[in-house]
Amino acid sequence: MRFTTRTFLIITLLAILAGCGGPEPSNEPFSDFEKTVETYDVIEYAVPVFSEVDGVTYINDILIVNREYSLPPDYNPGLEPEVIDAYTRLIQDAAAEGYNLTIVSGFRSYQDQEAVYADLAGRLGEEEADQIALPPGHSEHQSGLAVDIGSVESASNAAVDFGDTPDYDWMKDVAHEYGFIVRYQEGKENITGLGYEPWHIRYVGEEAATEIYEEDLVLEEYLGID
Ligand SMILES: [Zn+2]
Repeated sequence: MRFTTRTFLIITLLAILAGCGGPEPSNEPFSDFEKTVETYDVIEYAVPVFSEVDGVTYINDILIVNREYSLPPDYNPGLEPEVIDAYTRLIQDAAAEGYNLTIVSGFRSYQDQEAVYADLAGRLGEEEADQIALPPGHSEHQSGLAVDIGSVESASNAAVDFGDTPDYDWMKDVAHEYGFIVRYQEGKENITGLGYEPWHIRYVGEEAATEIYEEDLVLEEYLGID
C-alpha cells in the first residue's frame, strides 16, 4: 500500500485513540504496528475531514462541488495554473504517442452556468435539463479544476462520441499520471449525480488521482461522502 500524509495522520490518530503512551518492552516489537495498518485499510476512505474557506467546501483538502456542495456566485478563479500545466503536458504527450486531444470547454463562471442551465431548462424542461446539467454554483467547471476534453475528431463532429475514440482509450489510463480523474463514471451515476461523461476530467493532483484510478473510485467514494 502507499503511505500518504493522510495515512500517517490516521495512523497517528489511531495511536492516540488507542492511548499509546510509548512503546512497551516486548519480544514482538512489530505486532502493534501491524494491527494498526489493518485497521487503516478498513476505514481508508471513510474519514472525511471537512473545511470551508469563503463558502468553498474542501474534504481532506480537496475541493468538492457536486449536486450537494456548491460554490458561491463570486467564486471566479479562472482555470488554475497547475491545471493548465497538467493538461498541456497531457495533450503534448498524447500527440507524441499519435493521439489527438483538445480542450473543448474550460472555466465556466457561475453566470455562464446560469445561462447554460436556463437555456437547457427552457428547451427541455427543468427535469430533463437536470439529468445532463447542474444548476449554477454546482458545476465543477466553476472550480477552475475541470476541463472537457475531446479528440480533434469528436470535437468537430457531433456524431463522434469521445468515449468511443482511441484517443479516449489512451487517455483514461494515463490521465492520473497528470493529476486528472475521469470524474463522472459509468455505473456511478447515482453517486456522482451526473451521467457518464468520458470527456470531463477533474484535477485532484497526481497522488489522489492515482489512488482513485487504481481503486476504480469516483471522487465522492474517495472522499467518503458517497
Ligand atoms: Zn465538463
